[in-house]
Amino acid sequence: MARYTGPVCRLCRRDGMKLFLKGTRCDTPKCAFERREAPPGVQQYRRGKQTDYGLHLREKQKVKHYYGVLERQFRRYYQRSERAKGNTGDVLMGLLERRLDNVVHRLGFGQSRAQARQLINHGHISINGHRMDVTSYLVRVGDVIRVRNKANSLDLVRANQSEAQREVPDFLSVIEGDMPEGRVVRFPEATDVSIPVETQLIVELCSR
Ligand code: SF4
Repeated sequence: MARYTGPVCRLCRRDGMKLFLKGTRCDTPKCAFERREAPPGVQQYRRGKQTDYGLHLREKQKVKHYYGVLERQFRRYYQRSERAKGNTGDVLMGLLERRLDNVVHRLGFGQSRAQARQLINHGHISINGHRMDVTSYLVRVGDVIRVRNKANSLDLVRANQSEAQREVPDFLSVIEGDMPEGRVVRFPEATDVSIPVETQLIVELCSR
């Protein structure tokens, strides 16, 4: 699957907020956004006032960068949320939150979504006992996400868990035991989204 491979700290500076794309480094003074908040590029101090379109676009880009999805995939999520019942913006964010890479990250198994994607791609994660290597898999209520019983998988995830100490959202629960595993308790709602986002702006842009 295509993915962004450029410098990620630029994305935070471009979007004007910390997107936590680099795991534990984001919480240290080494964070590029903490050191230099201005947008990237040589013309950074000559930027004019943001247009209405720019405001809408920035909101959409912020969400795409945060969840690590590209435009085409994001459009597919949008189209699906448009067809679904309920508030389109909330459904859209719910779909993104249900992505397996996001869930693995939010359970604390991966320090960042990028690392969670790598864990999944490399076969360290199973869903309901079956190996799952599709990062965009949408979890369902009752799914059990488990780290495979292999020494290197367990060492990697345990190291991440002890380093990150992340708060697990209410729609997930960590199952206590020898093996790192978690369960999906319910579908994520707007309150479970961990990034401040004005979904209305995204809907207005995508529905044009
Ligand atoms: Fe963003 Fe993390 Fe880089 Fe800071 S360290 S700019 S939060 S990706």
